[in-house]
Amino acid sequence: MTILNSDFQTARNWDNDNFVHPWEGMANIGRNERTFAEGGDGIYVTTETGERLIDGPAGMWCVQVGYGNTEIAEAMAKQAMEMAYFSPFSNTNSTAAKLAHEIAERTPGDLNHVFLTTGGSTAVDTAIRFIQFRNNVLGRPEKKIIISRQKAYHGSTYLAASMSGKERDKGWMDQASHLTHFLPNVNPYARADGQSVDDFLDEKIANLENAILELGADKVAAFIAEPILCSGGVIVPPKGYHNRCLEVCHKHDVLYISDEVVTGFGRLGHWFASQEVFDIVPDIITCAKGMTSGYSPMGACILSDRLVDSISGEKSKGATFSNGFTYSGHPVSAAAALKNIEIFERDGILEHVRAVAPVFEARLKALGELPLVGDARGQGLVGCVECVADASAENALELDHSVGAMIDAHCQEHGLILRPIINMCVFSPPLIISENQIHQMFDILEGGIRKTTDDLVRQGVNIK
Ligand code: PLP
Repeated sequence: MTILNSDFQTARNWDNDNFVHPWEGMANIGRNERTFAEGGDGIYVTTETGERLIDGPAGMWCVQVGYGNTEIAEAMAKQAMEMAYFSPFSNTNSTAAKLAHEIAERTPGDLNHVFLTTGGSTAVDTAIRFIQFRNNVLGRPEKKIIISRQKAYHGSTYLAASMSGKERDKGWMDQASHLTHFLPNVNPYARADGQSVDDFLDEKIANLENAILELGADKVAAFIAEPILCSGGVIVPPKGYHNRCLEVCHKHDVLYISDEVVTGFGRLGHWFASQEVFDIVPDIITCAKGMTSGYSPMGACILSDRLVDSISGEKSKGATFSNGFTYSGHPVSAAAALKNIEIFERDGILEHVRAVAPVFEARLKALGELPLVGDARGQGLVGCVECVADASAENALELDHSVGAMIDAHCQEHGLILRPIINMCVFSPPLIISENQIHQMFDILEGGIRKTTDDLVRQGVNIK
């Protein structure tokens, strides 16, 4: 199975010399000591040294049914042997067509037109390009601005990255800034002292409406929002937020894109969170990650019938939506996605998530009591612990950077992989995690936070 057991240093050299990783820190390129994941079963991954660790983030929020699922692997192998690939441009394939149908069966409202992509970024790009295309066909080429939010993450292709509001990711990169407008932070934890959550919510809705009015409704094409801003720190907006945003959007003829790349496929206990959890039927949903449980790359941009009908037939003026990928609807990925859906239904994965989520949420909330923890938030099977060592210290930012890494190191030593984002520990375990395993995961996390607190106190940090 693994090259590393026999010749670990060689693989590390290949990794450092030849493999450019996502978000590669250039100061350190070629000098990394990354953990190699070489095997996995259920919620565990096995590293190059044979350590078996709980995978807190489920890969990258995606390994829903867990590692080592032979059913998905076999479905992919069968498809690869029968028909690995054929051009989706003017031909088609029954596995991909069936997948589009199965997805449409599970989406809210009239979201029945499924454009299959290669991942989340290409799903978001497709959504934006479709909106631009539609407005061109409708004869309003000026209506192109997309309103997004601070701390949002929508992907790494140029357009999707331009819609992303994480400051840390923008510093050195170019963006199509003329196409975007960003609304301020929607995290209720960051609201002003003395402000109620209700007032904060009103302010956020006013931010959206004022932006549309100031930019001009004839210029604003869409609003894009993750139901929960996940990689921005699992920010759960106040109750009623999405509903009210949708109302504002529709009042001003602005489309609503719900980016469910993380929340789709079970993370909150439903196929999609937009309607079931947040009570909205958006105009477009994007999804990826959990679609195949990470077994093969795939994403989707799901368009409402209303949008498609508005520019089809006679109304299309002969236009072609010139957007697509060699691997749109790849049969092997589609086979993985179909088997994933079958497993979800047969094994009651969505019901399981809804059953264990209260345990997860209760353990998460309890971490909020620890002195090092500023906020512990989440929903379903996604959570974040935001640590604040000493906000008033001169080196507060430096401290923040080290806190996540320290907790991560302690947890890994005790059998849990986390995904620190500066001072935030974010986790979204495989959806098959049992109640006992949830306790095990939180026990390790709590121990890691306590040990980090002790380390900081020993260093003289004044933890508030
Ligand atoms: N949208 C959201 C909400 C995401 O969290 C991500 C990735 O984390 C993306 C889009 C981009 O997806 P991908 O990395 O598959 O391109």
